[in-house]
Amino acid sequence: MVDNPILLLSSAGSLGYSGRSVEIALIDFHTHSAASDGTLSPRDLADRAVSEGVRRLAITDHDTIAGYLSVYQSVPSGLDLISGVELSCQWGRVGIHIVGLGFDPASPALLRHLEGLDKARKDRAEKIAHTLDRNGMPGALVGAMAVAAGAQIGRPHFARWMVLAGHVDSEQLAFKQFLGRGKPGDISLLWPTLDDTVAAINGAGGVSVLAHPLDYKMTATRLRALTDAFRDAGGQALEVINGRPRPGDTDTLWRLVRERDLQISVGSDFHRDSPYGAGLGVDVTGIPEGMGVWEQL
Ligand code: AMP
Ligand code: MN
Ligand code: MN
Ligand code: MN
Repeated sequence: MVDNPILLLSSAGSLGYSGRSVEIALIDFHTHSAASDGTLSPRDLADRAVSEGVRRLAITDHDTIAGYLSVYQSVPSGLDLISGVELSCQWGRVGIHIVGLGFDPASPALLRHLEGLDKARKDRAEKIAHTLDRNGMPGALVGAMAVAAGAQIGRPHFARWMVLAGHVDSEQLAFKQFLGRGKPGDISLLWPTLDDTVAAINGAGGVSVLAHPLDYKMTATRLRALTDAFRDAGGQALEVINGRPRPGDTDTLWRLVRERDLQISVGSDFHRDSPYGAGLGVDVTGIPEGMGVWEQL
């Protein structure tokens, strides 16, 4: 696929940019802070972004904008922080993530949508705890809430608690055995619909992005159907780079973007320093003009 202009970029990304020139203006429209399941405070995340050469950043915590709201009035100089969020939703029986960018954080309809998600996450946490209890792990709700320390609660907090309580040796194993896709702690069918989610973002003046489209492990036909449903709902962009794309990933997504006349968004999906995850910032110099969502944000 010689016509994929992102190919060069992603291979450069996978080699790592240690010592990269800060003259390249990096963008990162998918990151997590300690307001959800990231480890850095929103302020530390913003500072880190600046030191890594990121010029435009969105903090896209899971189902909360509390982290964004805590820093947007005191952004480090040299950084353009746009509003962001990663919303959980459902398309049929499948859990999907939609990144919202550049919306009005005071939109009453969006705030109502977020309140609904708060409640859904609390209800889900109770169900997860119940399941863990039945599997010989009592006290999970109190434990995971202590780990979350006021953050939007999610499965990673349960995974951390399971390690701390000595039930599993690693967070990876907690997901593999109890919390991951299809496991007992993977409680589904409780999120808002894809349509309502895109409507909440777009209604607040934002741009909706289908996050990490290849993570849903769909066949090409299903992924096209999801992309069509997303576009019909008003979705504007696919996240063509998420973290460290594997060889071939950007080919697939580039083709889909062209085929369905969508735009492109990019992000590291940074949660913490890790040898597996990507560092902050994506070089978008190879993405053709007119295709990046950053041009309209
Ligand atoms: P939740 O938002 O509560 O459904 O949790 C999903 C989050 O868990 C993702 O955003 C990742 O940060 C994390 N996660 C998902 N799968 C795994 C895994 N296999 N190992 C570690 N973390 C994971
Ligand atoms: Mn996460
Ligand atoms: Mn996600
Ligand atoms: Mn994410």
